[in-house]
Amino acid sequence: MDNKQPANKPVIIIGAGWAGLATACFLAEKNIPVTLVESAKQLGGRARQTSSRTQVLDNGQHLMLGAYSELLDLLKLIGVNEGDVFKRKHQHLNLLNGQNLQPLINLKLPALPRPFNLLFGLLFCKGLSLKEKISVLYRFDRLLKKPISADQDCSVKQWLSDARLPPAYLTLLNALCLAAMNTPADKASALSFRHVLNETFNGKKGSTDLLIPSVNLAQVLPAPANLYLNTHHASVLESTKVISLQSDNNIISQVVSEQQDLNASAVVLATPAHISRSLLKPLIECNELCHHLDQFRYEPITTVYLRYNDSCQIPDEMIGLTETLSEWVFDRRVCDQPGMIAVVISSQGRHMELDNKELSLIIRNELAVIFPDWPLPNASWVIREKRATFSCTADVNRHRPGVITPYQNLFLSGDYLATDALYLPATLETAVRNAKACAQEVLNYLTQQTPL
Ligand SMILES: Cc1cc2nc3c(=O)[nH]c(=O)nc-3n(C[C@H](O)[C@H](O)[C@H](O)COP(=O)(O)OP(=O)(O)OC[C@H]3O[C@@H](n4cnc5c(N)ncnc54)[C@H](O)[C@@H]3O)c2cc1C
Repeated sequence: MDNKQPANKPVIIIGAGWAGLATACFLAEKNIPVTLVESAKQLGGRARQTSSRTQVLDNGQHLMLGAYSELLDLLKLIGVNEGDVFKRKHQHLNLLNGQNLQPLINLKLPALPRPFNLLFGLLFCKGLSLKEKISVLYRFDRLLKKPISADQDCSVKQWLSDARLPPAYLTLLNALCLAAMNTPADKASALSFRHVLNETFNGKKGSTDLLIPSVNLAQVLPAPANLYLNTHHASVLESTKVISLQSDNNIISQVVSEQQDLNASAVVLATPAHISRSLLKPLIECNELCHHLDQFRYEPITTVYLRYNDSCQIPDEMIGLTETLSEWVFDRRVCDQPGMIAVVISSQGRHMELDNKELSLIIRNELAVIFPDWPLPNASWVIREKRATFSCTADVNRHRPGVITPYQNLFLSGDYLATDALYLPATLETAVRNAKACAQEVLNYLTQQTPL
């Protein structure tokens, strides 16, 4: 990104989730005055620290990948050492039938460049016969190489149905689709999932690695980004809810919050799609954009935290389960919370019909089958994020906007945009990538306003 001229009035960025924080840091790096406005008391949005009276937790267990290159670059920019905030591990996908305890598949991918990562991973993979391993190598590679155009997009289930992959590998791909896209395979976009698989399995060396946060989420990005912004002459206003945008011809002239009115050189809307829609609705030029945002549907993510004795621990930090309500089980020992187990359940399902007490009891009983030696947990918390991500379907992909809006100085940032032709699902990496594209458009606009 290149920039020549700082602007006088600040760029107002609305929403301090990871997209808003990233957009602010990218602009602050170029000496652009920035004011970041956040309605909540804390920064981080859907990836934030939260606490009960007795316990600091994340609003949901998050997992990052070595393929999150833009996020890793951003952390470097703001002075965060990867090793201080993540435990990097070679990908290890261990899927177990949670009812009969039969291992389904156990795939470890070494940090080798492609295709050797999958080649060596499959060689030592448990749960597949030799014939099945050879078939995966050949068919999976062919599947990933064949492009899908946006107008040919279909569900992941349909896409995989012709691939003739072994059943255990299909179960793994279905579980990965649900985990990575928070959308089940019968609804999820094949185009998006193919990109996720390609970026992970066919990316650079280390792309398949897992990055498990070793500190709470606030310490990964929100707190260091806040520090970076404070030392780069940007201001951050917490507990400040924006209620409307005032337009003057083709320009947004003012951002009105419950507390104050803010003048802006440019405005970035880094709120989730449904909130962006309600702020854009009164702006006549945004009718079509609002129509697209109306088509978005959302998926929940539920995290059940159970606190056991410090000595209870799961091998390898995480394990995937099938035939249970529990989907992925994480050991929070990695972020200095020994005995704390986080169970993640993506999307919709029977768990949504249960109240928190019923759900924790079922999860506790499911874990007791797998870890019979564990005593009962001494506390539990259920955190339900009802709109955790947008539903990443072929239908929704057709409606994902880019950064630019009909107003010259109004830009969008957030995990729901499609700023390239990749249609990546809602992740922290997508939020940061889109933030980078947004910052570039803001810089282009400001440079046009103040030519050399
Ligand atoms: C439980 C859970 C688990 C997840 N797991 C993973 C994972 O493992 N890996 C991964 O990569 N991704 C994961 N995700 C997805 C990831 O967290 C999101 O994609 C990402 O945080 C979205 O960031 P964002 O900045 O686009 O939006 P948000 O985080 O929603 O940020 C928008 C911000 O705008 C603020 N705001 C809203 N209205 C206003 C207003 N009127 N005025 C001012 N501010 C306002 C909000 O408070 C919020 O802070 C998970 C999400 C959840 C909820």
